[in-house]
Amino acid sequence: MKNSQPIRMCISCRSRQPQNSLIRLKLSGEDVVVYNSLGRSFYLCKDCVKNEKKVKGLVKRFKQDEERFIKLLKELLNNG
Ligand SMILES: [Zn+2]
Repeated sequence: MKNSQPIRMCISCRSRQPQNSLIRLKLSGEDVVVYNSLGRSFYLCKDCVKNEKKVKGLVKRFKQDEERFIKLLKELLNNG
């Protein structure tokens, strides 16, 4: 049965969604990167990833390089 998807929370808007509809990331040193099954991960929903204000909030929250961070998110959206 594929209905029993684990539910995870988006760290930006705190909405709960099935894990496979969220984008999974992690912190590697100071950089946010795609989760690679090592370490602690966190999730972002696609609505937040598409929301410029939310993305800018995350850039500040994680002290990311804005250009690199937005590029990463765009790539993930296109892959998903
Ligand atoms: Zn969200």
